[in-house]
Amino acid sequence: MPDISSVKASSVMGTYNRFPLSIQRGKGTFVWDTEGKKYLDFTSGIAVCNLGHAPQYVQSKISEQLETLWHCSNLYTIPVQEELAAHLTKRSSADKVFFCNSGAEANEAAIKLARKYANDIKGVQNPVIVTFKQSFHGRTLAALSATGQSKIQKGFAPLLTGFRLLPFNDTGALQELNHDGKTCAVLLEMVQGEGGVIPADPLWIQELARSCKEQGILLMVDEVQTGAGRTGSMFAYEHYGISPDVITMAKGLGSGFPIGAMLAKDEAAKAFEAGSHGSTFGGNPLACTAGLATLQYIEENNLLEHAAEMSSYLQQQLQACLSNAGVHAEIRGKGLLLGIVIEEKAAKIAAEALKHEVLLLTAGPDVVRLLPPLNVSREEIDEFILRFKGILDTALYS
Ligand SMILES: *Cc1c(COP(=O)(O)O)cnc(C)c1O
Repeated sequence: MPDISSVKASSVMGTYNRFPLSIQRGKGTFVWDTEGKKYLDFTSGIAVCNLGHAPQYVQSKISEQLETLWHCSNLYTIPVQEELAAHLTKRSSADKVFFCNSGAEANEAAIKLARKYANDIKGVQNPVIVTFKQSFHGRTLAALSATGQSKIQKGFAPLLTGFRLLPFNDTGALQELNHDGKTCAVLLEMVQGEGGVIPADPLWIQELARSCKEQGILLMVDEVQTGAGRTGSMFAYEHYGISPDVITMAKGLGSGFPIGAMLAKDEAAKAFEAGSHGSTFGGNPLACTAGLATLQYIEENNLLEHAAEMSSYLQQQLQACLSNAGVHAEIRGKGLLLGIVIEEKAAKIAAEALKHEVLLLTAGPDVVRLLPPLNVSREEIDEFILRFKGILDTALYS
């Protein structure tokens, strides 16, 4: 982890182990620190700034909305919220959308919907939601109870009951999916992000989806990190040919403006009626404007195709760079959510990257996580590879 001893005393709670860097400004794939030093940003604010920093198109739409209406509450119809919901349902397997402000809240809404559906519609008491080892679903109590990593849960007992953890990508374990007849839903990531950039196995997903369908279990996908084009399709589940009942998203949806969403098919969505759930800020006009502009920009500029192309190019260049450096490392992930597996060295590489004016992330101790914006250029990838050579040299051999 980066050395934070040099950072002066802060009044912000120490919930993050921060890199020794204060960021002042960002444009496209670059950010500048408070001393004016320029960095190549391959983190996109953890998969949030999918169009790069301060994208002009989104900025101009938000500026227009700032002149028009900031907030009015969900007691009234909000035209841009309707428009964003219609866009999301047209682009997904879902029919209805609930808006909130973050990924954890989107998962919280999904968990509540699954329970309400089980209690009120299916008549299942004490329903169970199955989640998976190494998953990450957020930091609220329900979301962390659903999460399959003990480091996220440590110290927060008592956790919520009603969750059962199964191993990820394990077909045999699907025997346990509903052994007591209480399982109302499964919640999983298509590519486990925080857990180490681990893609779901397509055959396993097919099997899981089939079991869910046969047994009336809601298939809920957490696309908080993978949604909004990150993997080269609007949603990562599209790579798997499945039709989820519930989808959660947040990070990339607003290009940096906070927004979350829980999407559901009518069959599940009907469990929520007036008064079932709510959020003061959820679906706020400014946030929905950011969301709609982001989706429009992705589509009008064919950024999904571009991201898929840049993903192949980046993987190919990385592979060459790693083998030239004599490093045997697996590259995994989908689209522009990529992980380089280098045992025990991830933090060292991310720290070393700063000296080469590159921002990089980790995903656990063994994985360097790359999250360039969807509109990253070939030239920027070339620049990254050039610097990555130097980063590897000093991080691995000094
Ligand atoms: C980041 C993340 C969350 C939590 O989102 P927040 O906006 O931080 O609450 C949940 N699920 C996944 C898969 C994530 O990557």
